[in-house]
Amino acid sequence: MTEKPASGEKKNGLFDTFNRQINYLRISVTDHCNLNCMYCSAGSMLPLKHEDILSYEEIEKLVRAAAAMGINKVRLTGGEPLMRPHFPRLVGMLSKIEGIDDIAVTTNGIILARMAEDLKNAGLTRVNISLDTLKAEKFKMITRHDKFTDVLAGIEAAHRFGLEPVKINVVALKGVNDDEFVDFARKTITEGWNVRYIEFMPIGTANGPVSGLITTAEIREKVETLGQLEPYRELKGNGPAKVFRFKGASGTIGFITPVTEHFCATCNRLRVTSDGALRPCLLSEDELNVRDALRSGVGIEELKKLIQQAVNLKRKEHNLNGKIGPDDKGRPMCQIGG
Ligand code: SAM
Repeated sequence: MTEKPASGEKKNGLFDTFNRQINYLRISVTDHCNLNCMYCSAGSMLPLKHEDILSYEEIEKLVRAAAAMGINKVRLTGGEPLMRPHFPRLVGMLSKIEGIDDIAVTTNGIILARMAEDLKNAGLTRVNISLDTLKAEKFKMITRHDKFTDVLAGIEAAHRFGLEPVKINVVALKGVNDDEFVDFARKTITEGWNVRYIEFMPIGTANGPVSGLITTAEIREKVETLGQLEPYRELKGNGPAKVFRFKGASGTIGFITPVTEHFCATCNRLRVTSDGALRPCLLSEDELNVRDALRSGVGIEELKKLIQQAVNLKRKEHNLNGKIGPDDKGRPMCQIGG
């Protein structure tokens, strides 16, 4: 275990230089996607070659080292993670690692209906499903694919197989879905959805006409035309979301504010890109190549040193507020894992 003294006492776990405890690893398992969203370049890029992305065995070894240091929560994302062949096998490998007690997936839900049962059996805890509109025609416009009903089937299957809490990620897109925020909010009352509105991050990966920020304050004002929101703290895996619900609703409403109110002070994350770079922050270009180390056959102790090194690279705050622009390394979100 990494030990770092804090105010006279010794704590167990993985800590960065600002004494934040890091217990959450987000892994982009592929940069490939089966949608081509207007605000993301994943579906229009040439994917990385298979030999350039980490194998399941390499991911498993890395997670084993991370778990030995205090990581207990893993999120698999991308690209579209469910597109990676035999994806439930990876979930099964990770769920057997001692110390890992929460494995979540972020998915567009398109092939989830087919896979939800296998994922549950493999040890997946829960899913976040991205859905930016409740209208089939608009879905086609945003994603360039006519797959709206497949996502709804994915949501239904996630509930049926107990991948709870199922959360619905809605990126706030000015002039695109701002007329539907209330409709999404209503779903928390009528269908018990857990909806999370995410501020659009201008990080240089846009793939179409997305412009302008809608702030959480603006989203909340629209949503509250339905009723007053009460703070709610009991939803599993809240992360940086500020969570509320309407009185009597079984579902919840979360706001994620990467732009107007960053949550760096409580950041507990480390990321792995699909081609095997440890990345201390989505929004900084620092990274540390761990794929070469894995391929040269390093042992767990050596990997633990690399993980600590990457954690030490974590800055106090991300630079989105100061410098809005593309990643200098040219890395799209799908490689880093959104
Ligand atoms: N394919 C999966 C999915 O659709 O959920 C996982 C990858 S996707 C990049 C992860 C999440 O990031 C999605 O909810 C997506 O809407 C969100 N996202 C992508 N680009 C974004 C941006 N510029 N600002 C805010 N959220 C973004």
